[in-house]
Amino acid sequence: MNVKESASHVLPGCLPPEPPLETVHRASGRRGTLSLQQYVDGILHGDRTILARAITLVESSRETDRAIAEQIVEECLPHSGNSIRVGITGVPGAGKSSVIEVLGNYLISDRVKKVAVLAIDPSSKVSGGSILGDKTRMNSLSASDMAFVRPSPSRGTLGGVAQRTRETMLLCEAAGYENILVETVGVGQSETTVHDMVDFFLLISLAGAGDELQGMKRGVMELADLVAINKADGANTRAAEKARTEAQNALHYLPAALSGWTPRALTCSAQTGKGIAELWNCVIEYAVMTKSNGWFALARQNQTQKWMHEIIRECLRQRFEAHPAIKQRKDALEKEVLEGRITSFRAARDLLQTYAGISEPGST
Ligand code: GDP
Repeated sequence: MNVKESASHVLPGCLPPEPPLETVHRASGRRGTLSLQQYVDGILHGDRTILARAITLVESSRETDRAIAEQIVEECLPHSGNSIRVGITGVPGAGKSSVIEVLGNYLISDRVKKVAVLAIDPSSKVSGGSILGDKTRMNSLSASDMAFVRPSPSRGTLGGVAQRTRETMLLCEAAGYENILVETVGVGQSETTVHDMVDFFLLISLAGAGDELQGMKRGVMELADLVAINKADGANTRAAEKARTEAQNALHYLPAALSGWTPRALTCSAQTGKGIAELWNCVIEYAVMTKSNGWFALARQNQTQKWMHEIIRECLRQRFEAHPAIKQRKDALEKEVLEGRITSFRAARDLLQTYAGISEPGST
C-alpha cells in the first residue's frame, strides 16, 4: 500500500477526538441530514435505506463520516451478535455467487430470518478491477426485502477492508439479519481474514480441476468446516461425487479441529438446488454442537481480541507511513539498503527510532 493511500484510509479507531453523541451528521447535502440517534433507531428498526447509508459512512474515508460511523457501530454493538456468520470461499467460477443466491433464497423462503451477504475482495485494489464485485450479482436475492446484499469495500489494504466488513456485519446484525454470509475469493490472505470473522467456513470447490488449479492449498482445506463440490448436475454428477470422496479423504488427514467438529464434504448444485438444504443443515449442526461445547462463544471472543490487535497494528502502520519525517527518511534509507551500504535491519531500526522520537509526547 502506498503512503498516499494509507494516509487517506485511516481506520475509525485511529481518529482524533470524537464529536459529541448528539452530533448531527451532514452527509452529502443531497441526501439530507441524520442524527446519530436517527441512524441507530433506523438500523435497529431494520430500515434498509438507513442501514445502507450507515455502511457508506463505515466505508468512507472522510474523517467526519468515520467519526459518526464509529459512534453508530458502538451504539449498535449491544444489539449485534445474534447471528450465524458463514464465510464462503472458492476460486472464481466455482459458483460462489450462484450458491449464495440459491442458499440465500432458501434461507428466506419461510420469511422468518433475514440474510445479509457481504464480501471481501482485495483484488479490487491490486488489479483496479474486482473479482467478486463487478458482475451484476444475486439479482433475485438482492430484490428481496428479506435480504441485504453489499459488495466488498473497494479501497484500502486487506486489513482496512476487513475492518469495514466486520463493522458492516455488526450493523447488519443489529438490523436483525440473523444469517450473515461473507464471500471472499482465494487471493492472498483474504481467506484467513474471512475465516477470522466467521463462525463457519465453507469452501466451494469443483470436480475436474486439479487442486493447484483451484487454489485449493492445504491451508484453505485446513480452514474449511465444509467442502461443497458444486455443479454436481447433469454429466458432471459422477465426477462431483468422486471429487467429494477425494475431498473427504483429504479432510480426514488434517489435524483434529479445536472446535471438536469433523469437517465434511458434500456435493451440491446451484443449478438444480440439490444439496443446498444439506449444506445449511451442516451449518446448523455445527452451530448446535459448538454452542453446547462452548467453542462458538470462545471462538468469537478470540476473534474480537484478534481484531483489536489488528486495529492497533493497522493504526500504527498508517501513522508511521503517513508521518512526513518518516516519508522523508525512508527514501534515503531504502536507497542505502538497495545499494548494499546498510542492512535492512539497521534501516528499519533507524526508522523506528526516528518514529519513537517524533511520537513521544510533546515531540510532534
Ligand atoms: P463465482 O465466480 O465463484 O461467484 O461463480 P459464479 O456463481 O459466477 O458461477 C460461475 C459459472 O458457473 C456461471 O456461469 C454459473 O452459471 C455456473 N454455475 C454456478 N453454479 C452452477 C451449478 O451448480 N451447475 C452448473 N452447471 N453451473 C453452475
